[in-house]
Amino acid sequence: MLEENLKKVQEEIEESCRKAGRDPKDVTLIAVSKTKPAEDIMELYRAGQRDFGENYVQELREKAEELPKDIRWHMIGHLQRNKVKYIAGYIDMIHSVDSLALAETISKEAAKHDRVIPILLEVNVAGEDTKFGLSPEEVPAMAEAISHLPNVVLRGFMTSAPFVDDPEENRVHFRKLAHLSVDSTSKNHDNNMVDVLSMGMSNDYKVAVEEGATMVRVGTSIFGARDYTNHG
Ligand SMILES: *Cc1c(COP(=O)(O)O)cnc(C)c1O
Repeated sequence: MLEENLKKVQEEIEESCRKAGRDPKDVTLIAVSKTKPAEDIMELYRAGQRDFGENYVQELREKAEELPKDIRWHMIGHLQRNKVKYIAGYIDMIHSVDSLALAETISKEAAKHDRVIPILLEVNVAGEDTKFGLSPEEVPAMAEAISHLPNVVLRGFMTSAPFVDDPEENRVHFRKLAHLSVDSTSKNHDNNMVDVLSMGMSNDYKVAVEEGATMVRVGTSIFGARDYTNHG
């Protein structure tokens, strides 16, 4: 069942790549498993899926301990500084960095594990009041500041577009993030190798791929609707 959903999403990504003249190998599908049980993750794991996204530190910790070690875990939810230490040893990428203070904490905790953690800056491209993330104007100074931190590497940008009925409405936001990325690459700070664009969710990932997404974060279309009863 979940395997079929996964296949369908993979096919849609390939189709969007064809439309845009892109290589499907350049798009990583992150299966967003928040609130979903370990059995569901294992079903997809057996089908070959290795990249999973989680929003809550406690839940991520429990799953990472229990599940196979070659799973690549992506932290995509809002992250509090005092919780970074719980994931610093194994997290593969943190998509939701929205302040220098948080990036500094990640660098400090990564150093304790003798590693460098790849991070993305979360950008609120649509300027929604309810969303976390930097404004596009804040990005250049932040990218510069991060380039001086020894144990993080800025790999790119992430956004969550508004929830809309017609995903075409989000094309303009994805395009804006892609432009921001091109601008940052041309600046080329030492400690930054900006090539990741994390954008597109169940509702709009096809449009995001057409606009250059290199990571899409898909939950509902793979796992089905979420039940938040036991989550904050
Ligand atoms: C939950 C979540 C997703 C997945 O959303 P779906 O609509 O279920 O695909 C993607 N990105 C972030 C940041 C999320 O919190």
